[in-house]
Amino acid sequence: MLTDMNKRIVVLGSGESGTGAAILARQKGFDVFVSDKGAIPEKYKAELDQYNIAYEENRHTEALILNADEIIKSPGIASKNPLVQLLRVKGIPIISELEFAGRYTNAFKICITGTNGKTTTTSLVYHVLKKAGLNVALAGNIGISMARLVATGNYDYYVLEISSFQLDDMYNFKADIAVLCNITPDHLDRYNYDLQQYINAKFRVIQNQTEADIFIYCLDDALTMKNVSNLRIAARQFPFSFNQQIEQGAYISNGELHISTSKEQTNQFTMYTADLALRGRHNAYNSMAAAIIANALDIRKDVIRESLMDFQNVEHRLESVATIRAVEYINDSKATNVNSSWYALESMDKPTVWIVGGIDKGNDYAILQELVKEKVRLIVCLGLDNTKIHEAFSKDVDMIINTSSAQEAVHVASKMAKPGETVLLSPACASFDLFKNYEDRGRQFKSAVKAL
Ligand code: ADP
Repeated sequence: MLTDMNKRIVVLGSGESGTGAAILARQKGFDVFVSDKGAIPEKYKAELDQYNIAYEENRHTEALILNADEIIKSPGIASKNPLVQLLRVKGIPIISELEFAGRYTNAFKICITGTNGKTTTTSLVYHVLKKAGLNVALAGNIGISMARLVATGNYDYYVLEISSFQLDDMYNFKADIAVLCNITPDHLDRYNYDLQQYINAKFRVIQNQTEADIFIYCLDDALTMKNVSNLRIAARQFPFSFNQQIEQGAYISNGELHISTSKEQTNQFTMYTADLALRGRHNAYNSMAAAIIANALDIRKDVIRESLMDFQNVEHRLESVATIRAVEYINDSKATNVNSSWYALESMDKPTVWIVGGIDKGNDYAILQELVKEKVRLIVCLGLDNTKIHEAFSKDVDMIINTSSAQEAVHVASKMAKPGETVLLSPACASFDLFKNYEDRGRQFKSAVKAL
């Protein structure tokens, strides 16, 4: 570990994590330099100036970078980037912002990764801990960087959302509690199209754990389980499941959620799944993960129960927008792949008008077919090219209607939906054909609903 005041740290990429890392490095007395291949947002430039940190934008000047003792790399920069390769050849250590931040705090770290459900689970865990009165911060992939909070705050607990790209450059960092929500193929372009490399990145969340630590994972997730059984895991393991009763961990049976994290009878926690604020099977998994953590931290049962009941889900994830003339409108704009929309459809308990479409990242709609037959009465397409959706579902629903704006989609859906039905925006696609991003799509949907 570098402690020498004369050591040089170069931060590559100046988003939230890069700027946070630079601030912390400056505070610790390093010679800090920030380099970004693109433009640095004004608000970050102002901060770098304020902390007297040298930087460059729109270029990487090798002479100012290759003299680094250590590099902190933004998770957005791929390891096949030529500069990164050159740094590796030169043997200059490259770490992530979280690895760096972890060196400067003794706080308890709860680290949440997985392909889907990270943001929801992280926010829910934060909500429970906050409600329990703990001095807790929310950080990582979800918003504010951990490094910034280590530099400017003083927390006892960190709840961290961690992506595989962040894990790639973590070595000595240790999670006191690690959560692996699930694993399905994703981001393979960054892992040489090798699924195992992506899986290995996810499993770095448990590296350095000892028997004093905790590892929480989904027993029903095939890829997780295949790898769990091949690894020597030091931490205490608390899996969660829908399918199997679990002695130490969490499971759901007969509409009840059961948690246990010790052999003590008084430690057992149960609650009705109907009382959970988050809907859908995927969210029941997320609730189980959060409840295990709360239980393991000895948070009072009434606090756990109340927090799981009153949690307001993060925007754009199965977010109930309004009920108008007995039709409920739900915004799940964050569902940008088929897997997320599968869970959204699975959680529908009323006949559904499904708004779907956008830029398809090679979707295989076949996995949705059974659910569409069972739950969807009609489809409203919201995309420029809807051919694949027509081909996939024309035999399964009453009607498929093309639209090309959120307003038009909501208007059509409101005309077609019958009282007692649900209108669900869960696009299974990226949004860039008609919108700036998924947030823009979700917000336009919500304002169109509110204008009805
Ligand atoms: P992430 O941060 O990992 O992208 P989010 O919590 O933002 O995850 O959810 C992304 C999408 O995945 C949403 O459409 C959400 O409804 C769905 N989702 C949430 N939790 C899970 C889960 N445990 N398994 C599968 N899909 C999930």
